Amino acid sequence: MSLLTIHDPHAPPRPIGIDLGTTHSTVAYVSPFGEPVPIVGCSGSPLLPSVVHYAADGSVLVGEKAKELAVDFPEDTIVSVKRFMGRSLGEVEKEALPYRLAKGDKTDIVRFELSSGRLVTPVEVSAEILRTLVKDAQKVLGRVGGAVITVPAYFDDAQRQATKDAARLAGIEVLRLLNEPTSAAIAYGLDKEVQGTFAVFDLGGGTFDLTILVLEDGVFHVKATGGDTQIGGDDIDRAIAQQMRKAMRRENLPRRVERYLLDQARWLKHALSEVEEAEVLLELDECIKFALSRTLLEEDIAPLLERMARIVRQALRDAELEAKQIDGVVLVGGATRVPAVRRLAAKLFGKQPLTDIDPDLVVAMGAAIQADVMAGNASRDILLLDVLPLSLGIEAMGGVVERILPRNTPIPASASQLFTTHVDGQSGFEIHVVQGERELAKDCRSLARFTLKGIPPMPAGMPRLEVRFEVDADGILHVSAKEQRTGIEQKIEVHPTYGLDEATIQRMLEEADHTAKADLEARALIESRVEAERITKATRKALEEDGHLLAQEEKETIEAALNELEQALKENASRHVIEEKKEKLAQLTASFAEKRINLALRRSLEGKHLRELESN
Ligand code: ADP
Ligand code: MG
Repeated sequence: MSLLTIHDPHAPPRPIGIDLGTTHSTVAYVSPFGEPVPIVGCSGSPLLPSVVHYAADGSVLVGEKAKELAVDFPEDTIVSVKRFMGRSLGEVEKEALPYRLAKGDKTDIVRFELSSGRLVTPVEVSAEILRTLVKDAQKVLGRVGGAVITVPAYFDDAQRQATKDAARLAGIEVLRLLNEPTSAAIAYGLDKEVQGTFAVFDLGGGTFDLTILVLEDGVFHVKATGGDTQIGGDDIDRAIAQQMRKAMRRENLPRRVERYLLDQARWLKHALSEVEEAEVLLELDECIKFALSRTLLEEDIAPLLERMARIVRQALRDAELEAKQIDGVVLVGGATRVPAVRRLAAKLFGKQPLTDIDPDLVVAMGAAIQADVMAGNASRDILLLDVLPLSLGIEAMGGVVERILPRNTPIPASASQLFTTHVDGQSGFEIHVVQGERELAKDCRSLARFTLKGIPPMPAGMPRLEVRFEVDADGILHVSAKEQRTGIEQKIEVHPTYGLDEATIQRMLEEADHTAKADLEARALIESRVEAERITKATRKALEEDGHLLAQEEKETIEAALNELEQALKENASRHVIEEKKEKLAQLTASFAEKRINLALRRSLEGKHLRELESN
């Protein structure tokens, strides 16, 4: 029997923090004692593998169960979907293996083609992960309020927007998007200092991010970011697996065996974070004992560490800082548990990094704290915590970029710029919004194009066109353009050229709504069946025990109705049919029930009588 947790329906919804990671995702909340607490999901771990499997029967599995299916169903099991968020088809085509990406659409949207022929976008896949996290949170907290969701500091407008779209699709109110390194800094309480310069060193499963944050008057500025989207703990697994293959003298193993070796390699890697030497038994056609020492592993991953060191030095140069000017180093990401990685961070910055908080939970915990503050539960001030990661501008004459909001502007922010025409009688202005640091629009990322129409023809240079950029606290841009002489105005929320348009999002929301309704209906059917089974059993028993209370004819009608209900259950009839039969049986047995109650009463009175007589 499973238990149903009962939550106080009047308790206010609880805000949550979500780390939507490449390898793992985590959700956390702030307890009534003010402590951030990661939520443990069904698998018994707070780390939900960011893996989504689309089964042939249309069902969707997320997390550990999905991960197990990745070997057998590579095309239908999406791992590391974060790498695809807010990116165009052209950008990801090379790294899309083993997925099939759908082509032939006017837009440049990435869509995974599943073996069923169904197409799913990265936003939909991420929404599945978010839904699972929210369900896990609901089990613990009852009602869940808004969420703070973290994103890498370098995420551009399109990637942030895609993350917000995924949340919307999952039915989550986004309190705010927060940069991952900022979130980790909050978890360590660094925002309580007045000022300081911090390095956040994040080594996850497949990405390395180094961020230098400067705290000034309670505002975190991203001073520099560096990293490599192709370095992570997975590389260490691959290096160990390569050693295993060597030991076995085998190359080109079947995919399943490769996966097995990688799993064993990961196990060894984790063990070597704790002990100096460890071994595994590789159970293949023959059993092979494979031992590895920490020293050997460290030799093996030296080139990887050197690549990371170069990235760190470069970021320091970009920030025009020397290592000794860094006041604190925060370690983030499961792979920073590797002792050699910790030593590297300590050596590069010349100080011991902060490691008190679990590196793979710290981001979600910071997000939970921020969510709690934003929901008004904590007494801390809501701070302006972020800055614009990349400059925003529009394409001006000759294809050059006119920067309107430079990078590192604290957000929310707004700015405007006046433009005019260079051709007589121009009645429409095309506005091309771009993001990036390059001088030419073609080298920047194109965010959107729109045309301000209906301006009366004027000589060149006469119109006064004010283009206004507003970036909200999530880092998302809203653009408006106004011709000041005529007052003609147009506003757009920038949905990136290859992002999802409003109609698509609406359609997906409706679909999600249908699924939710189908879920409810499935649940109602189960409840109806459980109740019907209980009733049939009870009625059978009652007939056996007290059938003598009924006239033969009465008994036969009840039995007939009972058989009908049992038949309906056996045939998996619809809820409607089951309810109908159940109702009929209830009506027929109403007077029987009454007779039984009377009988029971009589018996108990007789019993009492007897006892009373006895006691006298
Ligand atoms: P992401 O931010 O990419 O979602 P995580 O922070 O969850 O990633 O880090 C995942 C990586 O951390 C994996 O490569 C995993 O093997 C590694 N990892 C987790 N625990 C340990 C450990 N004890 N020792 C070494 N590596 C670890
Ligand atoms: Mg991470």
